[in-house]
Amino acid sequence: MRETNWAGNQTFTAERIFRPRTVEQIQDAVAGAPAVKPLGSGHCFNDIADCPGGVQLDLSALDMDVVLDAESSTVSVPAAARYGDIAVQVHAAGFALANLASLPHCTVAGTVATATHGSGRRNQSLASVVSGLELVAADGELKTFSRHDGVVVGLGALGVVTRLTLDLVPSFDLRQDVFDGLAWESVYEHFDEIQDAGHSVSLFTNWARDEVDQVWVKGPGQPGADFFGATAADGPRHPAHAAGIPADNCTRQLGVTGPWHERIPHFRLDFTPSIGNELQTEYFVPIRHAVEAMEAMRELGHRLAPVLLTSEIRTVAGDELWLSPFQGGDRLALHFTWLPDEKAVRELLPVMEERLAPFDVRPHWGKLFHRAADYPKLPDFRALADGLDPGGKFRNPFVRRHVLRES
Ligand SMILES: Cc1cc2nc3c(=O)[nH]c(=O)nc-3n(C[C@H](O)[C@H](O)[C@H](O)COP(=O)(O)OP(=O)(O)OC[C@H]3O[C@@H](n4cnc5c(N)ncnc54)[C@H](O)[C@@H]3O)c2cc1C
Repeated sequence: MRETNWAGNQTFTAERIFRPRTVEQIQDAVAGAPAVKPLGSGHCFNDIADCPGGVQLDLSALDMDVVLDAESSTVSVPAAARYGDIAVQVHAAGFALANLASLPHCTVAGTVATATHGSGRRNQSLASVVSGLELVAADGELKTFSRHDGVVVGLGALGVVTRLTLDLVPSFDLRQDVFDGLAWESVYEHFDEIQDAGHSVSLFTNWARDEVDQVWVKGPGQPGADFFGATAADGPRHPAHAAGIPADNCTRQLGVTGPWHERIPHFRLDFTPSIGNELQTEYFVPIRHAVEAMEAMRELGHRLAPVLLTSEIRTVAGDELWLSPFQGGDRLALHFTWLPDEKAVRELLPVMEERLAPFDVRPHWGKLFHRAADYPKLPDFRALADGLDPGGKFRNPFVRRHVLRES
């Protein structure tokens, strides 16, 4: 039974956790509870998955199969399936998911509910490949939705997702190459070319040094040896290499080709991802503001660096999912892996958000932030939540604060 989130900075306040084995048990539990909330693998850093005084549902014991349909290139998965597990089955059948996040440990339903993403200018968030899902609404009824119904990025506020159907692409191989020391001038001048250098590209920095510490390129071919002035790494790197963290938990680098699901995530399924003792924040701005937003963070570099383990710069393709931070166009993603000093982090967040406000900033729903963004479809989402959950049993303090804006 999980009493805290993965990071340990949130202690869940549910009265009890229930592990249903069947959809019928979920339906009964939801219909009978005044307050209920599904929990995935608990990798969010805020109180989005908490359920004060209510019933938290852990779906990991649900008796449900993964069903791959080669004809339609789709896979139907149980809500609590972990990406790392389904990826092996999908790959064995000759297929792939178009993209993955930095870690393969999260559940599909929890990942999709917060519009979790990877990197790559042509890669949308992991939520965008959901073509449909099944959800138990507040009255206990099982309903089916398509990607166009506004439910996919649901923040756990609409009901309990039991099963999701994901679009697949043909399986593919990638290699992962890391480069050290890319000058900021090169980042600004060649931003488009750098982002186009692979399927997925990440830059790691602490914002205070004169150059970006590392560039990770995951692509089908070998990038040029002189990567815009950066040099090929002489050994495996962890994203927080500059903070002295070893690369033992990282996926294979040094240009060795391998299957998509063993190269796109930064971290291996059989290890603790990232660092473990950390907090995270992430902001998204429209790609046209990329250079200005990076400059704004560099101006804050002297305040950010003492609290940072590392920071990652990525790109995410736009979509039309109602509460997706990428709704309406491609975005630059500015991610921050903090030391576990929540007080210091919370003091910085309003300062960072003020600096990024001119750039239409939107925070990651699953990480630490100060103020949620306004979305064009927020009124529609509230109406959808009212319809599926008129009594508000899925509305925890996070939803009331950031979606309903009650306080
Ligand atoms: C080390 C680390 C690395 C990360 N890397 C990335 C990254 O590369 N990119 C990125 O975007 N994010 C990243 N994240 C954030 C992470 O992907 C998200 O927080 C994600 O939502 C976690 O999924 P989860 O299964 O743990 O969900 P949880 O935290 O358990 O829940 C998240 C939300 O989903 C809801 N939910 C869960 N299950 C269901 C269900 N069955 N039905 C309806 N709602 C449900 C919950 O109620 C809650 O609202 C990272 C986090 C960590 C700890």
